[in-house]
Amino acid sequence: MELIKLKEGKAEILVPKAERIYDAPVFYNPVMALNRDLSVLLLKVVKAERVLDALSATGIRGIRYALETEADEIWLNDINPEAFKLIIENLKLNFEGELKINERSATLKDKKTLIATNKDANLLMAEKFRYFDFLDLDPFGSPVEFLDSSLRSLKRKGVLALTATDTAPLCGAHPKACLRKYNAKPVRGELCHESGLRILIGTVVRYAAKYDLGVEVLFAYYKDHYFRAFLRLKDGAKEGDKALKNLGYLYFDTKAGEFEVERAFLPSKPDAFGPLWLGPLKNQEIVEKMNAEDKGELAEKKKVSKFLNVVVEELDVPFFYDIHALARRNSLEVRKLSDIAAMLQEKGYRVSRTHFSPTAIKTDAPFEEVLEALKAL
Ligand code: SAM
Repeated sequence: MELIKLKEGKAEILVPKAERIYDAPVFYNPVMALNRDLSVLLLKVVKAERVLDALSATGIRGIRYALETEADEIWLNDINPEAFKLIIENLKLNFEGELKINERSATLKDKKTLIATNKDANLLMAEKFRYFDFLDLDPFGSPVEFLDSSLRSLKRKGVLALTATDTAPLCGAHPKACLRKYNAKPVRGELCHESGLRILIGTVVRYAAKYDLGVEVLFAYYKDHYFRAFLRLKDGAKEGDKALKNLGYLYFDTKAGEFEVERAFLPSKPDAFGPLWLGPLKNQEIVEKMNAEDKGELAEKKKVSKFLNVVVEELDVPFFYDIHALARRNSLEVRKLSDIAAMLQEKGYRVSRTHFSPTAIKTDAPFEEVLEALKAL
């Protein structure tokens, strides 16, 4: 395969030359540099030691974790033999030290320990039971086929980082696939991204509970057609019970754009969407610390700052009002977000922008008040 050399963050990386990213023998997507930047920042804040990049492709993610965070034992795994070979080349490019290569594993001991493996991720995670402090699942599509093994491979207070790029099921374009993979009914329309993220987290919460584990969301977001969640496991049956209490349903009136949420095991009314996570989508201290970290060597520092500034200020309440959709649904004219926000704030409500949509607000104001503000302007 023909290779080209790139720089991303502090890493140098050889990637296959290809017309389209999905044609390449080993996968590398430059758009995901921002995803990796945010992951580096989060890992710096939570300070994990043993890290697994379970679906590593070129090795870029694990290599960046080794170069840019305090992690000191980093595993990089991929089932694809071509990826395994490329990971080894990329380790040589970024680290000095002795490299021992076996058939399906390679170990490099520099100041840190880097271990490359060529296994089915589920097999590797089963072998390394309760071993990792931080485990990253970055699959093609849905992470569900790796969930059980990852929850057993993490220590009981470890952090699971997961990406899902299967937006069609999670956002309601393929509802049957959502039911099969996530056991949930997705919503369509302006709330589909937040609801998709909450379905994904809700699924992890249900999987974790059977191991007597709870889940705290450190940071979860939607961007560039993917979902990403960083979830800290909480040890104990009571923690599992507590997390399950944050599951529930969304009711969405497509005529007017009004929504309602209900925390419950079963929905009390027809036409519920979910089950989904209704708890927080961030730990405020963690996202503030991420934002305060030095971003000088990140790949997408400007985009990261802009994005985190919105996240830090974002009200952490379930769902939002998209002013364009609300106006359309109620045959009203679109008004400036800032004017609507000012009106609601004057009445004592809290209002913020949301990273889910540039044309939406999050608020604790009831639907009627938001509609009133739109009509009054
Ligand atoms: N994490 C990478 C990054 O940030 O550039 C991208 C990973 S790519 C989206 C998904 C990778 O998972 C592919 O390289 C693929 O070969 C690998 N993969 C798919 N199924 C796997 C399995 N069962 N076990 C291990 N690796 C697998």
